[in-house]
Amino acid sequence: MLTPNINYKSLSQSYLFPEMKRRVNLFTSKYPNIHIYNLGEGDTTQPISQTVANAMVAHVEAMKNKKAFMGYGDPLGSINLRALIKDFYNDFINKPLDISEIFISDGAKADLFNLQTLFQGKMKVAVQSPSYPVYIDSLVINGNAGRLKGHSYENITYLIGNPENNFSPPLPNKKIDLFYLCYPNNPTGTTANREQLKEYVDYAIENKAIIIYDAVYSWFIQDSKIPQSIYEIPGANKCAIEVQSLSKLASFPSIRLGWTVVPNNLLAVKGQINAIWKRRQQTSFNGASIISQAGAIALFSKQGLEENKKHILYYMENTLLIKKTCQGLGLTCYGGENAPYVWIKTPNGMGSWDFFEMLLKKSHIICTPGVGFGESGDGFFRLSGFSTKEETSEALKEMVKLFS
Ligand code: PLP
Repeated sequence: MLTPNINYKSLSQSYLFPEMKRRVNLFTSKYPNIHIYNLGEGDTTQPISQTVANAMVAHVEAMKNKKAFMGYGDPLGSINLRALIKDFYNDFINKPLDISEIFISDGAKADLFNLQTLFQGKMKVAVQSPSYPVYIDSLVINGNAGRLKGHSYENITYLIGNPENNFSPPLPNKKIDLFYLCYPNNPTGTTANREQLKEYVDYAIENKAIIIYDAVYSWFIQDSKIPQSIYEIPGANKCAIEVQSLSKLASFPSIRLGWTVVPNNLLAVKGQINAIWKRRQQTSFNGASIISQAGAIALFSKQGLEENKKHILYYMENTLLIKKTCQGLGLTCYGGENAPYVWIKTPNGMGSWDFFEMLLKKSHIICTPGVGFGESGDGFFRLSGFSTKEETSEALKEMVKLFS
């Protein structure tokens, strides 16, 4: 008889958002007429842009025609889109990419999970804490996390982000084979500078380690000194895999499109990772939707990028307003300048879930409890700039009332 070897209760991705929803539903079932402000989710609210929408509609229309109809696409992605992405990167990175290093995906999450399947065995993994839950959960599901001891898995080294290191933890002083780094960071909204990333890259080259770099929030970077891609750091093409997504830039969370860059000359596993990933994609993936890819191709036009950058500015205005208001209330805030998240210390040392309950019941605002991103997130909460302008400013008025 088969028995599952995973303790699903320990997976925070499958716990955090359903638990928030359960608590909100409990409250709204008692008070059905109360309006709830959602500053919790990292979900976009702005509609897709005209240029991108037109391209997708045109593609669907064309597919009604026998001659233009297309069956399966290339599992690695449309060559036109891959070329556009290559050109996009090559404008600002250190060493030009080759098309063979770019793999189109149906979004970052599945690739972040699937990359795990390349690295089974006794590897030493380091993950930021707090972090986007998928990194640790994918290690657990793929059997690479080891046993859960208290709140930690024995095979994972936790790179603890805290106010002292401005949530950009330094290298650990032990041997690591695989790092997960996310900048700009979810949930803390903080960034890493060139020197900090260079330390990781230099270590990874020296130790033939791999960095899985989650750059899905790079579109929000406002400060030109902050790297948008790990490939801006010399040598990163020898040690880093970068995962990207159009969910936040192009309002594609449900349309789905992303890509992963797997360089040809990664030093780990005798430089074979690109070939293994290609084989994996060709074996288990029939390619991203050709309609989404048509939208992505349009996005990389001058008009497409201009329209979509407006979304970013919209969300960043919300985020800055959140940060300014919370700081005005005497709360200690981090991030929020190059990412759509503000990471805030709970007042009076409250636990994250206690604060969540208080904010929901007294101000009718949903925040994300920091502890959902790992134990080191307890005592913090995350507010997101992804809501509409109107909702954000109304919610903040409620917060001001609560704190005064
Ligand atoms: N990585 C981070 C840090 C995220 O916050 C998210 C989604 O919120 C993702 C990846 C997933 O992106 P996608 O929608 O492309 O799967």
